[in-house]
Amino acid sequence: MKTTILGYPRIGARRELKFATEDFWAGRADADALARTGAELRAAVWTSLRDAGLDSVPSNTFSFYDQVLDTSVLVDAVPDRYRHLHGFDRYFAMARGVQDVPPLEMTKWFDTNYHYIVPELGPDTRFRLADGSAAKPLVEYREAKALGIETRPVLVGPLTYLLLAKPAEDAPDEFRPLDLLDGLIDVYAEVLERLAGSGAEWVQLDEPALVADRSEEEVAALARAYARLGRLTSRPRLMVATYFGTIGADALRVLAGSRVEAVGLDFAAGPDNLDVLASVGGLPRKTLVAGVVDGRNVWRADQRRAKATCASLLGLVDQVVVSTSCSLLHVPIDLDAEASLDPGVRERLAFARQKVAEVVAVGQALREDVPPSGAVPAEAPAATAGVDRGVRARLDSLGDGTGRGDRTARFAAQRDALGLPALATTTIGSFPQTPEIRRARADLRAGRLTADAYEQTMKDEIARVIALQEDLGLDVLVHGEPERNDMVQYFAEQLDGYAATEHGWVQSYGSRYVRPPILHSDVARPRPMTVEWATYAQSLTSKPVKGMLTGPVTMLAWSFVRDDQPLADTARQVALALRDEIADLEAAGIRVIQVDEPALRELLPPRDADRPAYMEWAVGAFRLATSGVADTTQIHTHMCYSEFGEIIGAIGELDADVTSVEAARSHMELVADLRAAGYENGIGPGVYDIHSPRVPGADEIEENLRRALRAVDPGRLWVNPDCGLKTRAYPETEASLRNLVTAARRVRADVTGTPA
Ligand code: GLN
Ligand code: ZN
Repeated sequence: MKTTILGYPRIGARRELKFATEDFWAGRADADALARTGAELRAAVWTSLRDAGLDSVPSNTFSFYDQVLDTSVLVDAVPDRYRHLHGFDRYFAMARGVQDVPPLEMTKWFDTNYHYIVPELGPDTRFRLADGSAAKPLVEYREAKALGIETRPVLVGPLTYLLLAKPAEDAPDEFRPLDLLDGLIDVYAEVLERLAGSGAEWVQLDEPALVADRSEEEVAALARAYARLGRLTSRPRLMVATYFGTIGADALRVLAGSRVEAVGLDFAAGPDNLDVLASVGGLPRKTLVAGVVDGRNVWRADQRRAKATCASLLGLVDQVVVSTSCSLLHVPIDLDAEASLDPGVRERLAFARQKVAEVVAVGQALREDVPPSGAVPAEAPAATAGVDRGVRARLDSLGDGTGRGDRTARFAAQRDALGLPALATTTIGSFPQTPEIRRARADLRAGRLTADAYEQTMKDEIARVIALQEDLGLDVLVHGEPERNDMVQYFAEQLDGYAATEHGWVQSYGSRYVRPPILHSDVARPRPMTVEWATYAQSLTSKPVKGMLTGPVTMLAWSFVRDDQPLADTARQVALALRDEIADLEAAGIRVIQVDEPALRELLPPRDADRPAYMEWAVGAFRLATSGVADTTQIHTHMCYSEFGEIIGAIGELDADVTSVEAARSHMELVADLRAAGYENGIGPGVYDIHSPRVPGADEIEENLRRALRAVDPGRLWVNPDCGLKTRAYPETEASLRNLVTAARRVRADVTGTPA
């Protein structure tokens, strides 16, 4: 093993996986067809990685939905409610739910925009190798072998798996998933033995959880797990991969003392790994898999520096393997597919296929002790030569003076100005993106539709959505976002300093892929971005229409961002553009403006010590964007998760007038948590889960609202779904929203004593 990568995109160069999965879900294709597409995609990846010259090719990095879900299936951690289903039906029910059977929770994979399906474990969970020799890692290993390719199966490491799991709802309070470690290790042992039996030489166990703060008990669990796996008499060699940050010295010491043969460290997100490695005395008898090519970003590697890093490691370890810092799952597949990128930007970029070539080139340079073949990457254009000197000057003059008026005064001013009822109903912004909308956008791009005709199609859609909302009886309306392909890309396309790709798809969750834009230079807003659509929508109704923007942190989190200046500086540039947009919306008569920050938690650094600095700039950027408005203008924000943990205090500091969050799956507990953390403004706990096609009943929503009312008074409680509706279809959307309004009216009548 001299060169390798930790994983590769699974979606296919032409998004084959998405289309095959969606065909299967829609009943247009059967299970065999879906399985066949999977096999073809795997074969294509293995072959291309071998042909590119990698010495060790990973396998089992493919997934029909998610690798954590695959692990749950592998070890039979299947909650009873799915057990009547089988095969793909069971698998996708766990991921997405079916009518009457809600899905498992879904949440973000560390600080990425990839989502995994959260294992749900209880004291009664009995792990076992459910499929025996037909288990996925075994099947895929043999499949590659049959193609003549020896691979290194990749598994989610046992510690990380348990640390990512959640106790089932009916589990006793004292239960923790980590209690199940020994049983889980039994199954991993069996998988390793069987893989060895099939001829596997290496297995990769991913333990990214080791780059976050870990308790003594967790480190002890790590030691116990790898001591047992290390002692197996018949097993492949073990590589424990860490990524997304710097490994803890205690965890590294445990691995150093264990029998695992190789350890992977991330030198892109964890530059301190070198120090930690030195501090534990290196890994004298082990192989170090050195993540020197950034797997999370799209910038070309400085191959000389990568080679130098590897060379500096040679004294500390027995052998160095050149690798990516993490799986390439997080970057687009191939830069060569892009025909219209600006050449000045393009020459600074490398996608997955190019990164594999970088790894191979660095490996070769190291082996032959020659300079690497790749050129030194071009620098970002100097800031002052960038888009707009005015941006930097204005930011300097704005400084930190970014507060709004007193919140009680604002509450009163908005109550009078907007005249909204208690338990006001609204949605998060988008309405279903119908095939017609998508077709219009594709036609516009292909030149089959004129800009005017496109605009008219969008306006018709907006008019329909406004009429629907009036019919449903919602209180604060939205224009529905038909004109937006994606909440970040839409703005990136209109801002200077961003570039868009044509085929740069990256998996976000399941069959949902995004094309993150590339933020390469100073950001500026040449003209208003949303004002026309918002004012058109507002012209159709007397109810307030919410203007809809994407916040600065999310604009960075879901983009590939220049790494030549602190993220904080880039965030302020984006915030200034949004501040100008908000001023324009307000001047045009939009009285409620939502600034979505669904990614606020995502960028949170894995270690506690680094968090306050992050929160400070993240909150500062939001306030810079939103603090220019009058007290009567109501600022909303939205976040797509319910576990706030470390950032719960920051929600208050954002000082939005209304915050909507995901809460249905956690039964509204969040409302009390937020209040307890000192949040006093309006709160819209999502009353149903939009990630599933399931229609919630009015009774169920009513119960959720009554639960929420235990912690917040009716004047500050908002009623909304837990996220935008763009991925849903109209039938379930209409039915769900009707139930939502019914439930809100019933509860409102109750608490205010007025008839429903
Ligand atoms: N306003 C966006 C929408 O409704 C918010 C999306 C999100 O939170 N991810 O689609
Ligand atoms: Zn959301």
